[in-house]
Amino acid sequence: MTTELKNDPCFQRACKHVVGLLSQLRQADATVGQAELKQAFEQLTDLIDQCDDLIWFVNRQMQLLLANGKSRDSFFELLDGDPRPGLLSSDLLSPNAAEYFDQLYRRVLSGTTMRFNHTGTNGRVYAMVLQPIQLEGEALGVSVLGHDITEVHRLEEHLRRFELLISSTPDLIALIDREYRHLVVNDSYIGAFNKTRDEVLKLDFRDLIGRETFHTDVELHLEIAFSGETVLSEFWLDLPELGRRLMSVTFQPLRGQDLTSESVVINYRDITAEKQAEDDRQRVFDVSLDMLCVTDFSGHFKELNRAWSRILGWSADELKQKPWLDLVLEEDRDVTRDASLRLNQGDTLVGFENRCRCKDGSFKWLSWSAYPDMERKLVFSVIRDISTSKQMEEELRHLATTDPLTGANNRRYFIDHVNTEVKRCRRHGMPLAILQLDVDHFKSVNDSYGHDIGDEVLIKLVDCCLGMLRETDLFCRFGGEEFAAALVQTDQDGAMLVCERIREAIAEMTIRTRQGELSVTASIGLTMLTADDLSIDSVLKRADNALYRAKNNGRDQVVLV
Ligand code: GH3
Ligand code: MG
Ligand code: MG
Repeated sequence: MTTELKNDPCFQRACKHVVGLLSQLRQADATVGQAELKQAFEQLTDLIDQCDDLIWFVNRQMQLLLANGKSRDSFFELLDGDPRPGLLSSDLLSPNAAEYFDQLYRRVLSGTTMRFNHTGTNGRVYAMVLQPIQLEGEALGVSVLGHDITEVHRLEEHLRRFELLISSTPDLIALIDREYRHLVVNDSYIGAFNKTRDEVLKLDFRDLIGRETFHTDVELHLEIAFSGETVLSEFWLDLPELGRRLMSVTFQPLRGQDLTSESVVINYRDITAEKQAEDDRQRVFDVSLDMLCVTDFSGHFKELNRAWSRILGWSADELKQKPWLDLVLEEDRDVTRDASLRLNQGDTLVGFENRCRCKDGSFKWLSWSAYPDMERKLVFSVIRDISTSKQMEEELRHLATTDPLTGANNRRYFIDHVNTEVKRCRRHGMPLAILQLDVDHFKSVNDSYGHDIGDEVLIKLVDCCLGMLRETDLFCRFGGEEFAAALVQTDQDGAMLVCERIREAIAEMTIRTRQGELSVTASIGLTMLTADDLSIDSVLKRADNALYRAKNNGRDQVVLV
């Protein structure tokens, strides 16, 4: 800065003039007011007025000889008009500054050149040079130059603050100029490249990251950033200490005065671990045998794994078009909506089951565990295909409640359901008839025709009985060749009629055998539910009594007790 000032032709010429004028003054031992000298000073003022720096001169008495326009306009705090030659510091500057400058003048007059930065009361910062105007070893006065370095100073301040700011971050940060020089780098940056700060500052940015990486991943982004746009990018960087790391990189132009518009801040953030975690998550997501998904509160898919397509047959795109509730079987929608409602209200974990439609039109039983994220309005679900276990469950239930020979319900099923009927009929005061049926002399059927024929009789008898009963009636094989039925909402007369019809139908049944046609008869004991019957036990006991009587009375008949 000072070199620039010293080389300023304006200043140099002014200095020469001032030396000349001052020597004349000394020889004449006259005052500043002499006419020709005054004129010379005015000419000189015109000359230095064109200079952008502050320029003024004082004589040995520390009186102002002349000052240029810049100092008049922006430095001196004059009360009225231009500084006239002869004024003192106290006339030109604030009391503090005046005292300060007078001290400086004194030192300069003793032969010392002073260089320092001075902040004016206008807030601007000047690089000041005060040097003695010497002639034959004698200081005749002081020449003062002030170069406005406010912007540079501000920039330096910014750089210092920037350096401080970036020093503690783990991100790798560098400020690069158009010539690919490093202007500022932080500790993480030099550490990652395993170099000293001086080494990095001397190195071309392109050489530091490698020319190939520069051309493929950086050059274009940097160009855009130099044109004033912020650019974000992601690329792999080979680092001597850390190896190959994935970096999230920001190229940010530093806008401002002169220098700053020519530089770009490059910020590398190491996202290798995040990327790995994301990859791992994605891998787990995709290899999961269970279906996984993230949905919004309206049930639209945000993310779903491959298991969805594998299990239901729909492509991810097909699934993403509609909310998943559309896939749910009509009769399971209420359960599902209820679960959704609980999720939307913030229940932490909601489990439910429903059937969802596959692409081929079939349905799969799904078991859901869903967790809501209330803030992000998302639901995270793990869904398991439980179709096989549902089917097995169904088969087991069927096995447990069905007679394998005839396909009729078994005793357990009958007792379970008839008790419900007993309660219902008692509550509503409806009649309920219970009958027990036993095949007559069945032992001799087995003995004469063989066990297989006996089985055939039983199968046929079940068909026959079911054909005579209503859907709402209950019928079961009680065991061996004994059966029971509950006739719902049937009064005594109606029940008697049904029993007679069953008895007749059985008697009319014929089974073809090798020994010719076979027919059987059956005895039936009938009873009605009464107000005293609290459960099915007493009713069955009466029906059994009735059956016993029917047997004793000669079989092939209905007895009501
Ligand atoms: P009653 O008229 O007194 O009832 O005489 P019954 O011979 O029918 O009575 P009993 O209880 O003595 O005999 C029942 C027979 O039913 C004995 C048994 O072998 C036969 N039985 C029980 N279950 C089956 C079966 O599943 N298949 C066949 N074929 N026979 C069975
Ligand atoms: Mg029997
Ligand atoms: Mg029998």
